[in-house]
Amino acid sequence: MTARRPGFPARLDLQSGRPRPATPAGGAVPQRGAAAPSASVHKPASTAAVGRVLPVPVTLAIPRGLGMDSAAVRNRMVQKIAAGGIDDAAVLAALQAVERHRFVDSALVNQAYEDTSLPIGLEQTISKPSVVARMLSLLRAGLVTGDGPMGGRLLEIGTGCGYQAAVMSHLATEVYSIERLRGLHERARENLRPFRLANVHLIFGDGMAGFAQGAPYAGIVAAAGGEAVPQAWLDQLAVGGRLVAPLVTSTGQQALVVIDRQAQGFSRRVLEAVHFVPLKSGIA
Ligand code: SAH
Repeated sequence: MTARRPGFPARLDLQSGRPRPATPAGGAVPQRGAAAPSASVHKPASTAAVGRVLPVPVTLAIPRGLGMDSAAVRNRMVQKIAAGGIDDAAVLAALQAVERHRFVDSALVNQAYEDTSLPIGLEQTISKPSVVARMLSLLRAGLVTGDGPMGGRLLEIGTGCGYQAAVMSHLATEVYSIERLRGLHERARENLRPFRLANVHLIFGDGMAGFAQGAPYAGIVAAAGGEAVPQAWLDQLAVGGRLVAPLVTSTGQQALVVIDRQAQGFSRRVLEAVHFVPLKSGIA
């Protein structure tokens, strides 16, 4: 049922006058070995994605009354996030730069710039843009003064469709992102290919173990919530680094937790309630 990522806005196939059928995603993707940083995001962009025809009624895919340019719609999303209290200019610029509609199914493309999580298959979701903004602002607040990129290496646990990894690529020197579901890892790889983000490294593996090859990390951000922060994440955090993760608290609800590593140990703050998919162990 999954269609390839659409262009934005959707275009009619002018020759036939109606949309062409969707090409199933994932079927012809070669399998890769586990836990190896891959260079495949460096491959030449596929031009086939440009102007691809949507397998859904075109009227659904074009946000009405907003103009035809996704940058304008995205700008509206970013303005709302800024109005919601995010004042980190670099994070806002990164959100403006990344075309979120390329990370969702064609049938959901008209919701791509709403501040909502959306299904991406295999019972997982693309994170809400305001939550991505909040977590990356928290991460940066612990690491930088000023508006520039924070530099250093970042680790994301839970690549999902790759959206947040793409946003992070604008904020750091290197981004390592690990996903335990092979189907999503492959989908993220496909989604990211056209962006040619040479500093994003996608890893298929169990993020509970972190990714030691990239450590130490200036920042670690988890997109899935567990009962406890795995020791490996703490071990792989640089001194002076910050970890931001959803964690199930004593009330049974998830909350955002910020952990800073200092020379002499760790400090921890529990912030607002959040709703993330569960952190699971093993690969599938
Ligand atoms: N970062 C994504 C959100 C992904 S949802 C975005 O940009 O929108 C969270 C993801 O975490 C899911 O794809 C889920 O499969 C993954 N996940 C859960 N437990 C994991 C683990 N132990 N290791 C790696 N990924 C995990």
